[in-house]
Amino acid sequence: METADFVVIGGGIAGAAAAYELAALGTTVLLEREAVAGYHTTGRSAALYTEAWEHGVVRSLTIASRPFLENPPPGFADYPLLSPLPVLLIGRQDQVQTVAALADDATALANVTLVDGGAAAEVCPLLQPGYVAAAILESNAMEIDVNGLHQGYLHGLRDRGGELRLNAGVDTLRRTQAGWVVTAGESTISAGVVVNAAGAWADVVARLGDVEPVGLVPYRRTAFVFPSPTETTGMPMVVDVDEEFYFKPEPGRFMGSLAEEMPMEPHDVRPEEIDVALAIDRIQAATTLEIRHVARAWAGLRSFVADRLPVVGMDPEYPGFLWLAGQGGAGIMTAPAMGALAAALATEGQVPADLAAAGVSATALAPDRMRV
Ligand SMILES: Cc1cc2nc3c(=O)[nH]c(=O)nc-3n(C[C@H](O)[C@H](O)[C@H](O)COP(=O)(O)OP(=O)(O)OC[C@H]3O[C@@H](n4cnc5c(N)ncnc54)[C@H](O)[C@@H]3O)c2cc1C
Repeated sequence: METADFVVIGGGIAGAAAAYELAALGTTVLLEREAVAGYHTTGRSAALYTEAWEHGVVRSLTIASRPFLENPPPGFADYPLLSPLPVLLIGRQDQVQTVAALADDATALANVTLVDGGAAAEVCPLLQPGYVAAAILESNAMEIDVNGLHQGYLHGLRDRGGELRLNAGVDTLRRTQAGWVVTAGESTISAGVVVNAAGAWADVVARLGDVEPVGLVPYRRTAFVFPSPTETTGMPMVVDVDEEFYFKPEPGRFMGSLAEEMPMEPHDVRPEEIDVALAIDRIQAATTLEIRHVARAWAGLRSFVADRLPVVGMDPEYPGFLWLAGQGGAGIMTAPAMGALAAALATEGQVPADLAAAGVSATALAPDRMRV
């Protein structure tokens, strides 16, 4: 049997960030069931960094992640991880109150302003005249190079002496006096701490170790790309304030989404044609775009527990079992803070001072809050 200080289960962005941070503190093995890390939700996101669209502790984790994303350690990434992508959260006349409520909270942030329909149309000339009554403009939102960030973590893990094992789905988890014994195919590893970063499968993994689940629900969200008739440089991402749809500029094309939340069991989720068609209808109603061709469509699972906050922390009822799950729609932009938090909770049992100062509390994220 092999031994390690930390075994991290799940090689998406959450597990990669945690493994990278833990590898600086002890021997670390990252186990990923698929042949490619990032095959599931991490490889299927919209890659957005936004502070205005989130609230409370998720916003705090996002803002706390920004310095790392802006200034990663030397050698971490070949190119900048962030590039400017303004976000326009739009509302029709019947959604003006929703925009106002969000503005109350979000305009306290720097570079977030409440604008009228005319100003929104100046920022995004594709909007149908008269469609938008009010909007929130977040001018310093960013696009994240998700692959650059993910690969940076995985390379950094190796540089720190850690190991990524692919095709290594965890089959069994057994608690011992010293921690946990994990089996994944041919590997049997004894570790003091196991980190459950299995994304939509986090409750499935918990059950393997007879750990009580936290009630995680994966929700499907569909996305697709379509060609742009005009130059997209400088355009904002446009988001319906009730999340009825969104579209995001990419070079020569747009990514669109119905922004739906369809609950389901964890699996390799596929897009539904009806969701693509509905999103196209809504985007065409809001803009002058005519979408005749969809180049590619996909779907991913965004996983939430009941209060929609992440679950991060050592399980008090199951020593050595650390949860890192429930990132919902914010797992990429919060990954740096979440990775640092998971590593600190695994070793010192405390929230790092900078995250505590940013408003992150261990209680708000604790796994046992789901078991009242
Ligand atoms: C359409 C869409 C748009 C999104 N847009 C954004 C955005 O703009 N910004 C943002 O920050 N976030 C966004 N998200 C959310 C973000 O993608 C997720 O929060 C994040 O990817 C979750 O990462 P993860 O590592 O927890 O999950 P995953 O990437 O799913 O990784 C979990 C891994 O665990 C592995 N695993 C499962 N069971 C086992 C096992 N038994 N043994 C070993 N490995 C196992 C899986 O194979 C998987 O690779 C979006 C998501 C979707 C679907």
